[in-house]
Amino acid sequence: MASNIKKVDNVRVDALNTFAKEFGDEATCCVCAPGRVNLIGEHTDYNEGFVLPMALPLVTVIAGKPNGTNKCVIISTNESITTVSKIEFDVSNRESIKPGEPKWANYMKGCMVNFPVPIPGFNAVVVSSVPMGSGLSSSAALEVATYTFLEALTGTEAKDPRDKALACQKAEHDFANVPCGIMDQFISVMGKEDHALLIDCRDLSVTHVPMDQFHDHVFLITNSNSPHKLSTSAYRERRDACFEAAQKLGKKSLRDVTLDEVETLKQQGAPQIMLKRVTHVINENARTLAATSAFQSGDYTKVGQLMNESHDSLRDNYNVSSPELDALVNAARKVQGVRGSRLTGAGFGGCTITFVLKTAVDEVIKSINESYSGKASFYIATPSGGARKLDCKR
Ligand code: ADP
Ligand code: MG
Repeated sequence: MASNIKKVDNVRVDALNTFAKEFGDEATCCVCAPGRVNLIGEHTDYNEGFVLPMALPLVTVIAGKPNGTNKCVIISTNESITTVSKIEFDVSNRESIKPGEPKWANYMKGCMVNFPVPIPGFNAVVVSSVPMGSGLSSSAALEVATYTFLEALTGTEAKDPRDKALACQKAEHDFANVPCGIMDQFISVMGKEDHALLIDCRDLSVTHVPMDQFHDHVFLITNSNSPHKLSTSAYRERRDACFEAAQKLGKKSLRDVTLDEVETLKQQGAPQIMLKRVTHVINENARTLAATSAFQSGDYTKVGQLMNESHDSLRDNYNVSSPELDALVNAARKVQGVRGSRLTGAGFGGCTITFVLKTAVDEVIKSINESYSGKASFYIATPSGGARKLDCKR
């Protein structure tokens, strides 16, 4: 069964070795934060709805040490960064830290500005096994790793994990200019081994949902390797249509809107496209709760069915699928033993997730490799832990 996930410990040792090589010193702080895959509940988070992600064994590791100056020096080894991979700036006056070039540093700068206590100068290395721009949330992994690194460096830990996740989300809003929901940061902070996380994006309550009981099934992530190009404008457009629809109905968010009220919107003359967006969100919330129950009762056929319906609605109502994602989903669904397959993440490229009997995984990979015109890569997704400190010994 193919899975090319680099072990967390190898990423850790890589980061520590790179730190020693670049700075001629041993790191004294080492942390990681995971990427995530969303099982179901897409484009519901900014509508105060439900999402069901799990943390991945793909992680971003930061290794570093205070350097006794006012400055931080950070190196990212990520090969996809084509611009500057080393940055240096003053951290003593955090009000002076502004977003700019290189863009990748903005995710980290935002977290530094939002950190509750002053931070000392430091040297650090960032190494990651989360693919960038593939919908597995390398951005949240970077933010949450940064915040966790600052916690280790200063000894000041967030009392409520929600505050930490919200500070990281704010960093993405204000410094990377991406108006994301809360899902990615929440799961990267609060992920737990063998569990998915049901998040109520209205009251921010979380429920860990056990995922260790279906040992004859696995989640197979397939990366289309067509980067997700949900431009901020396409994302905003959908988000704004949802906000506008709720407003037209006098509701705070689509969480409070029922399918009957879609009819009301129609009578008010709302455009067809808005009705489609709203229908997706209402049904997707219901599917997410139904899938959580189905996992809990062991009804895996139902889980698969709900995942398929989710994809079809994202394709037809929310219009965020792509020819690549549809091709991957169709190739997977052909194989016996596949319960369900859907795009995951915001869409327009990125990854799919397939819930499949372990015995059928090789057949799925074969089916995809035979019919997919691009070059797909595969990961078996084991539900993993959230951000944590790691050993500094090499
Ligand atoms: P996703 O979160 O789905 O991977 P995004 O577009 O939201 O995609 O975030 C990807 C961006 O995050 C990258 O373009 C880069 O700027 C930044 N990033 C993520 N991981 C790293 C890393 N290890 N080093 C430097 N930048 C990173
Ligand atoms: Mg992201």
